[in-house]
Amino acid sequence: MTTSPCNSAALEGGCQCRAVRFRLPAPPLLTVLCHCRSCRRAHSAPAVAWALYAQGDVEFSGEAPQVYESSPGARRSFCPRCGSRIGFEADYIPGLIDIAIGSLDEPARLPPQMHIWDEERLPWLQLADELPRHAAFPPMA
Ligand SMILES: [Zn+2]
Ligand SMILES: [Zn+2]
Repeated sequence: MTTSPCNSAALEGGCQCRAVRFRLPAPPLLTVLCHCRSCRRAHSAPAVAWALYAQGDVEFSGEAPQVYESSPGARRSFCPRCGSRIGFEADYIPGLIDIAIGSLDEPARLPPQMHIWDEERLPWLQLADELPRHAAFPPMA
């Protein structure tokens, strides 16, 4: 894989109405495509691609995302104006935050490395890739 100056630039993203913006100066720790029911319902989408970062590596600007406790100990954030989903934090991943890859300006730059919660995947969602599949949450290194 070759790197160009363009590809090494920090990733940026935000919500659809651009009230919430963020910058990601460091590479993600992990990227996944999550098939869990909770992500599906929260995003009204068949699956959600996430990039995991240290909280200090996500620089928010503009309007502060609104936070909602989607299940005990888990918090999802979204734009208070347009409702775009942005982030996920949970007590079981302290100090970390998932950023929805779909909220990036250039989401093609962060392909998922694996499927997680594949046991909850919609049966009609068949993706012809050879990425590893984990039935639930992947083993933590
Ligand atoms: Zn917005
Ligand atoms: Zn999920």
